[in-house]
Amino acid sequence: MKTVSNSPKESLKLYNTLSKEIEGFEPVTPGKVTIYNCGPTVHKVHTQIGNLRSYTFSDLVKRYFTYLGYETEHVIKITDVDDHTIAESAAEGIPLKEYTQKNFDDFVKQIGILNLIRPTYLPKVTDHVDDIVKDIKKLKELGYAYESNGSTYFSINKVENYGQLINLERQEALKKNAQGRMEDFSMEEKENTNDFCLWKAWTPEEGKVFWDTELGKGRPGWHVECSVISRKYLGETVDIHIGGISHIFPHHTNEIAISEAITHRRFVNYWLHHDYLIVEGKKMSKEDGTFYTLNDVLSRGYHPSVLRYVLLKTHYRQPLNFTWRAMEEVKTALAKIIRFLLWLDGVKNEKENKYSVSTDIKTCNEDFMKGMNNDLNFSEAMGSIFDFISNVNKQGEIINQKQAKEVYDFIMSIDSVLGFVDPAYKDYIQRLDKLIGANELKSVISKRLKAREDKEFNLADELGKQITAAGIRYTDSKDGSSYLEIAES
Ligand SMILES: [Zn+2]
Repeated sequence: MKTVSNSPKESLKLYNTLSKEIEGFEPVTPGKVTIYNCGPTVHKVHTQIGNLRSYTFSDLVKRYFTYLGYETEHVIKITDVDDHTIAESAAEGIPLKEYTQKNFDDFVKQIGILNLIRPTYLPKVTDHVDDIVKDIKKLKELGYAYESNGSTYFSINKVENYGQLINLERQEALKKNAQGRMEDFSMEEKENTNDFCLWKAWTPEEGKVFWDTELGKGRPGWHVECSVISRKYLGETVDIHIGGISHIFPHHTNEIAISEAITHRRFVNYWLHHDYLIVEGKKMSKEDGTFYTLNDVLSRGYHPSVLRYVLLKTHYRQPLNFTWRAMEEVKTALAKIIRFLLWLDGVKNEKENKYSVSTDIKTCNEDFMKGMNNDLNFSEAMGSIFDFISNVNKQGEIINQKQAKEVYDFIMSIDSVLGFVDPAYKDYIQRLDKLIGANELKSVISKRLKAREDKEFNLADELGKQITAAGIRYTDSKDGSSYLEIAES
């Protein structure tokens, strides 16, 4: 369902870190949106759930724009060379390329498990070294970059409005936060302490990892990678750039400096920054054993849809407190939607009635979009769906098959944005079918329905007992409709 709405009341509004205001969204090219997400470094813990919040959020943004009728182009950049990947591949004794390819394949697999639509592009840094070198040379020619001890640095003094993305009061705190990435680079080499490395000179510890280029023997710096790659795939001005708040400074600040020095155009129109993911109220930590990856979560028996829902449930500008209790709550909420779909699927009644299902669908769709248009307020949007479900449930006595199908299709169309209903429902049906097959209940089920129809209630009860004994629950309606559930859920 394409539901483009151009009325000002309903247009999409986003909080832009650059203006620090909620702004109406206007694309660079009408009908199209470009989205850039600084992606993972494909090292050991590339799928820790904190990072997955970022990609799941950018997937939601993309899906919603598609829902609104936009064409989307989406980049998640893959950092496949940095201190971690070099050290880890050396420790495992395998070449960097092989090591990062293995983690890249795993990353693609894992975002697939979370039902993230594969980005239009997943460019790797090591495939773009020539482009990066070309741009660093350009920056040198333009006077923005200088060489020191074999490395090349960006001179922030040359940029008039450096740091436009930073909230000044927070600048100091953020600077400290960023130190980790800068440790390797000797401060004495730089003209200004905030100058940052574009090209890092090779050191013997890096072994065979280097590119011998006109800039010398070395490798690219992190900030320039994003600038070059986003421009290459999405053009000089990107509509939406997504990342965590910890990247506002220095990473995104420096991406702006580089890009705008080269193009003299605005780099990004809307900066969307999501907050951190914390676990049980505390920072994720290896010592506390809370550095969870996707596999850690799934190994506890949760369907990936539950995690996806949890990752989206908290508004992106709030810290997301991941708890097992929250997982349980969401599991229950999702089960409610699944039960609703099972019921709709089982409706057999064909009688006409006065219930206007299209009115409820229209209201729900409007409210859903109202929530999403309000700076992607996911909870508000989900609230409209649960209201809708309880409204339709009230029509349980009269709803007919045609209406049930309309409701079912509408939920699935909304799920083109949510992305967690259909996979969970399909898996549920599969499990149910397996249970039916394993207990040879197919004919028992149809015999029971026939017995009910023929008002042979004693026989229906007997057959029903066989069904429940296999761990399957059935719910009958007066109109002859019936649906099955797995008893444990
Ligand atoms: Zn980036």
